[in-house]
Amino acid sequence: PSKPVKEWKYTTCNYCSTGCSIELGVSAEGRVITSRGHAGADVNRGKLCIKGILEHDLFHSPGRGTQPLMRERAHQPFAASDWNSALDKTAKQIKAIQDQYGPDSFAIVSTGQLLTEEFYALGKLVRGQIGTNNYDGNTTLCMASAVSGYKRSFGSDGPPGCYDDFEHTGCLMAFGSNLPEQHPIIYWRLKEAREKRHFPMIVVDPRVTMLAQFADIHLPITPGTDTVLINAMMHVIFKEGLADEHYIAQHTQGIDDLRQLVLDKYDPKQAQHICGIDEDRIRHVARVYAKASTAMSIWTMGINQSTHGSDGVCNINNLNLITGNIGKPGGTSLSITGQCNAMGTREWSSCSGLPGYRYLEKSEDRQHIANFWGIDEAFFPPARGLAQTDIFPAIESGQIKGLWLVATNPMTSMPNQPRIRKAMEQLEFLVVQDVYEDVETNKYAHVYFPAAVWAEKEGCHTNTERRVNLTRNVLPAFADSKPDFWIFKEMSKRFQDRNPIAFPQTAEAAFNEMRELSKGEGRTLDISGMTWDRIEAARGIQWPYTEADAAADEARIGKVIAIDTQLRVDYKGARRLYVDGKFQTDSGRAQLICVDFVNNNECPDKDYPFWLNSGRVVEHFHTRTRTGKIGNCNKFSPTPYMEMNPDAAAELGIEHGCYVRLVSRRGDAVVMVQTTHRVGRNMVFIPFHFHDCVNRLTLGLLDPYSRQPAFKQNAVRVEKV
Ligand code: SF4
Repeated sequence: PSKPVKEWKYTTCNYCSTGCSIELGVSAEGRVITSRGHAGADVNRGKLCIKGILEHDLFHSPGRGTQPLMRERAHQPFAASDWNSALDKTAKQIKAIQDQYGPDSFAIVSTGQLLTEEFYALGKLVRGQIGTNNYDGNTTLCMASAVSGYKRSFGSDGPPGCYDDFEHTGCLMAFGSNLPEQHPIIYWRLKEAREKRHFPMIVVDPRVTMLAQFADIHLPITPGTDTVLINAMMHVIFKEGLADEHYIAQHTQGIDDLRQLVLDKYDPKQAQHICGIDEDRIRHVARVYAKASTAMSIWTMGINQSTHGSDGVCNINNLNLITGNIGKPGGTSLSITGQCNAMGTREWSSCSGLPGYRYLEKSEDRQHIANFWGIDEAFFPPARGLAQTDIFPAIESGQIKGLWLVATNPMTSMPNQPRIRKAMEQLEFLVVQDVYEDVETNKYAHVYFPAAVWAEKEGCHTNTERRVNLTRNVLPAFADSKPDFWIFKEMSKRFQDRNPIAFPQTAEAAFNEMRELSKGEGRTLDISGMTWDRIEAARGIQWPYTEADAAADEARIGKVIAIDTQLRVDYKGARRLYVDGKFQTDSGRAQLICVDFVNNNECPDKDYPFWLNSGRVVEHFHTRTRTGKIGNCNKFSPTPYMEMNPDAAAELGIEHGCYVRLVSRRGDAVVMVQTTHRVGRNMVFIPFHFHDCVNRLTLGLLDPYSRQPAFKQNAVRVEKV
């Protein structure tokens, strides 16, 4: 920076789920002028990726909302407003729609980007006051399959492993996860561990990703056939006596059916023709995995964003359970979550149920939360409502009339954009709450709430390894934007006449409510021992962390009385779930789940001969609402492009650097070609970040359990322009 830093302030990165500790440098003039990684943080040990290094630029980035806006009809010019008018109008419209069409005719879609206390506050407002059951998060596009798979296998959500597992594992298998671009600092932790002690890394991905380039074995699988590969691996493991029969007998149920399914139907000889991996290679990786001292599986969107994402997660859990690789250092199944606080929304937002991993379907959970909030249990529905991906079809059919979008941008992120656009135009009332006024979805809004950026407010994130970390308030909110927590608190006041509730008045008060609510014998998500000061002093604490844990740590290291940004208090080390082999199911045993392959994707054919795959680039995050504004991120990756195999391109007379039209059954998009052997002859790949591009083409068939869309299995043709 050209000006000296006067003060460093502690935060957590607000992009991906790695959860890096960042310090922001503030100048004497009160401008945030630089970012640096915190050297004492367990997660990133002083490192940041390009997005974190440039994160301070967000405070002063263009396009930020300065004041609430309103208009009668979408596409008319907005009129400047004030907070009281915009909040009053929104509350009035929600009530009017609910009175006319019923409580569930108004839907709310949140995000994985808010702070955890904001998720809790929004959940309390929606579940305890507004009373619509159609409340979900954009996390349905991202990690809903992991949540569903963990619940089916282990009886609860919650990734059981942690980054420390890289230091102990004897083998790592990555499914559809390109860490160097998606989660660069997790990749750096993995790389450091492998440099100290080489262990085999197997990467399953249809594309030669950056991670695949560093692998010992790359399996370029046919899209959507991961369950076939894993079943064939389990076939080999059972047949060759490589399963951990002791662990299976002690800690699982359902082994007979699973064993029979994979032995009867998934001989690698047949499986190779479906999944595209040679039978000898399947046998080899099965042996490597099962014979390793410990083995771990990681995955990201290649598994989750699929018509059978939840089954894919269960099958990864199966593989780990039959080899005894759960709850051990280096033996785990670790979902690498997408957004910075996707875990926070899973834990506390109440999107798919009730806060603190409690569920609408369980009477005792409804009763517990109703008592805690001081409301009638009958106010809660007995099952969750529509997921985000079902809300848009419900708008189309007229079932949903109004929508409140919080920090999410479906006009770029949802599959099948032509259909989403039509749905948005049907809404009687749309309120968009976002840091940026120029976000694409705002074109359809009737009210716009300008929100503060992440470090203009205070609260926590939970990262992929269940580590809760803190963001301090670095600057006051820009212009007349407001912290999301403040917006929810003010909206709560406007529903007190209908459904009175004690609403937390500060984010820290919300955190203390959550701590209280999290207590309970045998509960994994127990954060009762955490305080904001302890979290900052430790640079993040993993849950479970009980009051007894906190007392034991303080007896050992002394009370935290002052925060020195260079000090890191050494709280108890890496935490794993299910170390004792006891799971959260009724029986206490993990459930082995039979996953049979169903070919239900949109596959290439003679009219649409290419698989269309999508994914991230390192410079951008999600729909570029932020990274598209940050000069250096955008300079490195300013436009969309399409990877195409040079041989396939030559056959069509297409040259590197020229533009082509891509056509699917939903629509078309024009994009520049980069020829590369990263993709096979029957596949093209486009980064998903750009507006009016890949999601004009995607179909988005849904997983039956998680309702997550299959972004990566679509068929397209390529035309010269
Ligand atoms: Fe932020 Fe993720 Fe980069 Fe870390 S790896 S600096 S959390 S974007």
